[in-house]
Amino acid sequence: MTHLIHRELRHTPPTAVVAFGMQVRDKEGNTYLDASGGAAVSSLGHSHPDVLAAMQAQLKVAAYAHTSFFTTDVAEELGERLAEDAPGDLDMAYLVSGGSEAIEAALKMARQYFVENGETGRRVFIARRQSYHGNTLGALALGGNEYRRRHFEPMLMDVARVSPCFEYRERRPGQDVHEYTAGLLQELETTIIDIGPQSVIGFCAEPVVGATSGAVPPTPGYFRGVRALCDKYGILLIADEVMCGMGRTGTLYAIEQEGVVPDLVALGKGLGAGYQPIGAVMAREHVVQRMRNGSGIFQHGHTYVGHPVAAAAALAVQKVIRRDCLLGAVTVRGAAFKRMLRDAFGNHPHVGDIRGRGLLVALELVQDRETRRPFDPDLRLYSAVKRQCMACGLMVYPMGGTIDGKRGDHILLAPPFIATERDLAEIVSRLQDGVARAIASVHPAGAD
Ligand code: PLP
Repeated sequence: MTHLIHRELRHTPPTAVVAFGMQVRDKEGNTYLDASGGAAVSSLGHSHPDVLAAMQAQLKVAAYAHTSFFTTDVAEELGERLAEDAPGDLDMAYLVSGGSEAIEAALKMARQYFVENGETGRRVFIARRQSYHGNTLGALALGGNEYRRRHFEPMLMDVARVSPCFEYRERRPGQDVHEYTAGLLQELETTIIDIGPQSVIGFCAEPVVGATSGAVPPTPGYFRGVRALCDKYGILLIADEVMCGMGRTGTLYAIEQEGVVPDLVALGKGLGAGYQPIGAVMAREHVVQRMRNGSGIFQHGHTYVGHPVAAAAALAVQKVIRRDCLLGAVTVRGAAFKRMLRDAFGNHPHVGDIRGRGLLVALELVQDRETRRPFDPDLRLYSAVKRQCMACGLMVYPMGGTIDGKRGDHILLAPPFIATERDLAEIVSRLQDGVARAIASVHPAGAD
């Protein structure tokens, strides 16, 4: 009996009682190796002593201070650190309590940026099919994942859609990658022109796509092309780094590897690494400058923005990442992890693609490798993978609807940055068992 409304209303998940390092233990005494950091959150693993100590120290001095009355040293220091490490002049931070809130704040900041200039007719955002930007109504409207949107469709603002940059699924045979990228950019430009650039606020995309399609990096030059189009038509580029940011791909901001500076960046998940609910919007100086010189306020706010204990946790996470050279570790371990996955699954008849960047990696499962035909969605293979991996003592983050919100299955892996090569080898070994059991459970041999 439970009085909590769980994600699955007919099933109560195991009760977590202790989480330490790479392990989570439940009430029954089962332990799970955390290969996904929950949902790509726990980048330092569980119970990191430095983060716990920083939170405790902050609790002793000021647990809460409302931002309409005060700022705090700890929030100021976090802003300074995030700005110092951000590319270009992404120098201003707005602290919220999670990824969806970061996206909501970014949408409102982008709109206000134009309103302050008298451009009140700007109302359209452009985003990609098969994207996820959060579950609050604005963020859900921005996202292009049909499965998550369907119940709420009548309540969602109109957002213009373009194709995702998803080479494995969408590059045609015989089309080279430059042609493929040029086609995507052409589609974006045509969309901007069709809407009328004077009505467009911005384009939003994840530099490396996380949950919806499974660790999909962009093609070379894609984001440079996007940045050039945003500049050409005077619209804002918003990078959603809620999942791929804060070191997960080997650089603190994932977009650094694309050589462009967005106007706004949304952060969450790894920012607080699970120790506190915290997100942020990083804004370029010119965006904030216009609001400062105009109305003088950002017309937004929540009770818990700039929370001091959340800021203390996030600041401690940043310090540990820098002190322990964890960005380098992500790059090195990420490469080793991919090698291990290729050794284990490279010839697997039902693994179509192994992809990702740093320690954001995914396997795409297919019924047929040659044709890339996915499994029948009614089998809910992704769900069987999650269940069977848990039975093998492994936490992974599988998802269905990889291709179009309905078809396709992938398994997202996002181990903590502290994972050793031994941990990664253990993950791969348990994953082999979990995948084999899951496929056998939905697809008995010879059922093709
Ligand atoms: N944006 C992306 C890319 C995400 O992956 C997520 C969460 O999975 C969000 C936004 C929403 O973040 P939150 O669940 O913290 O609200």
